[in-house]
Amino acid sequence: MPDETLFADARALTAEITALRRAIHAEPELGLHTPRTRDKVRDALADLPLEWSEGPSTTGLVATLKGGAGEGRCVLLRGDMDALPMPEETGLDFASTVPGTMHACGHDAHTAMLAGAVRLLCERRDSLKGEVRFMFQPGEEGHHGARHMLNDGLLGGTAGRPLPDAAFALHVMPNAPHGLVAGRAGPLMAAADPFEITVRGRGGHASMPHFALDPVPVAAEIVLALQSAVTRQFDAHDPVVCTIARIDAGTTHNVIPDTASLRGTLRSLSPRHRAKLHDTVRRAASGIAEAHGMTAEAAITPGFPVTICDARAVELGAATTRALFGEPAWRTLDRPIMGAEDFSYVLEQVPGAMFFLGVAPEGADYQACEGIHSTRMMVDETALPRGAALLAGLGERFLADGFA
Ligand SMILES: [Zn+2]
Ligand SMILES: [Zn+2]
Repeated sequence: MPDETLFADARALTAEITALRRAIHAEPELGLHTPRTRDKVRDALADLPLEWSEGPSTTGLVATLKGGAGEGRCVLLRGDMDALPMPEETGLDFASTVPGTMHACGHDAHTAMLAGAVRLLCERRDSLKGEVRFMFQPGEEGHHGARHMLNDGLLGGTAGRPLPDAAFALHVMPNAPHGLVAGRAGPLMAAADPFEITVRGRGGHASMPHFALDPVPVAAEIVLALQSAVTRQFDAHDPVVCTIARIDAGTTHNVIPDTASLRGTLRSLSPRHRAKLHDTVRRAASGIAEAHGMTAEAAITPGFPVTICDARAVELGAATTRALFGEPAWRTLDRPIMGAEDFSYVLEQVPGAMFFLGVAPEGADYQACEGIHSTRMMVDETALPRGAALLAGLGERFLADGFA
């Protein structure tokens, strides 16, 4: 049974959710240590019957709510807390007060929506059977915060406290229709592996390259070879992306440098293509360098795994969305996106799903809105109570019925 009053109760929390989001937005923090954000969350929820656990590797927090209707299932709901190292250009009156730091991925909204869900589920505590763990996570933007919290045992998995039975998270999308909830079973987001290739030649006078080993044209050849490899060696139905985002070589116009370096990211959706892509990068780098009498090595750092959503969890998300907001609010995505998300670490161990929530202004040309990681990214805050209601609804339904 859908909870008829949940969305209305969430809307009644609009001012509280918005205030928390704005406070976090104005004071963004980076990486695994977000103490001021953590304190804002704890202060906002201090009056509620929660058990808190935290640390030691991060400022990540888990608030546990024990239902009043006895033992049962355990569900995890997650919101991330960290910002990005980039300037803000929104002109909002609650814009970042920390130079070079901005909540441009909407994690301020995620935290505020999750805090709203905490309050909604606390209000329903007496009818809940089982346990809800609310995961407030720092360090999503490349810092593996979710993995640290898992390794710290905060999410469970230790003796007497097993991992949750299901896990859910939301991500706002500022360039998707207001209030739309979207998801898909299977791969939702890509694995993302950063890499660096170093080409080693021998420097010299720029006028006499035949006395040197110039790494610059070799680096350029590697960039183009990788683009050809992606289109010629990989099945287009199991896509991969290889982007070289940074090229470094040399110090001035008339000196051939000793080395050149290329940095970029590798995106893939399957373990097979992930391994093959790594192999391709290593082979292209060393083979092309060797053809020119030089050497090159590729250092590939394993990044976030593929975000894989459980089909039953996605079905629960679709059903909860329809019950709360009506049929048109749900959309099944027909393909994954090549972005990455460290909630994938949780979904490797706990069946669950992440959903996208459209937060473009109501009636706006959503495709013209700035996307996440833009200095001008905005969130229509009137969509936030929907996120809080959806998170709470997912928790409530899973505790009641499991993956029915
Ligand atoms: Zn992001
Ligand atoms: Zn994000």
